Amino acid sequence: KAWSQCGLSSKVMDVIKKNGYEKPTPIQAQAIPAIMSGKDVIGIAKTGSGKTLAFLLPLFRHVLDQPEIGPEDGPISLIFAPTRELAIQIYNECRKFCKPLKLRTVCVYGGSGVSEQIADLKRGAEIVVCTPGRMIDVLAANSGRVTNLRRLTYLVLDEADRMFDMGFEPQVMKIINNTRPDRQTVMFSATFPRQMEALARKILTQPIEVQV
Ligand code: AMP
Repeated sequence: KAWSQCGLSSKVMDVIKKNGYEKPTPIQAQAIPAIMSGKDVIGIAKTGSGKTLAFLLPLFRHVLDQPEIGPEDGPISLIFAPTRELAIQIYNECRKFCKPLKLRTVCVYGGSGVSEQIADLKRGAEIVVCTPGRMIDVLAANSGRVTNLRRLTYLVLDEADRMFDMGFEPQVMKIINNTRPDRQTVMFSATFPRQMEALARKILTQPIEVQV
């Protein structure tokens, strides 16, 4: 399978070529068309498989298809990561595309100063990468005037198994329960144990499952 079959814009293709990504990895080849169809998707894939771009490339198209966000609007897309290291990794991958696509991204994670993250969110960002605990804090900050989830229509849970092993289910559900029901949801996980199926049913609607 080739990039030309993935339905990507020329600006996205320019960044892909510049990074030397010659062809989609197996998880990208499967997940990108599934996500682009607009359906919810569960991807079973480990770190190193190229899963980050598998959810980011359809994310960019989704975001660019939406009306621009205004000064009062929160993000169109939100990505959950279980650790700050992973959040920063996703954010750095995302940033490579944001400049040519004229999109803004903010990384919201705990263990570092909150004021700069709040200032960045107030300036507006289409894409937010977050760890759950800090995201709850910034959503509550200043009586909810820092950011909001009213425009959120593309939600990603990365490394979902680790997220729930680490006990973040209540925080994640608290945020997800305040998002629009018409959102598209994508979940990536290295494993998909039985206990996660019930949870997946709460978060995803008739998901397509892809696995490599
Ligand atoms: P990930 O599994 O998302 O953590 O990605 C692992 C590494 O593979 C990252 O360093 C990416 O930059 C790289 N990568 C992602 N997609 C491709 C691709 N299609 N071809 C080559 N390298 C890639």
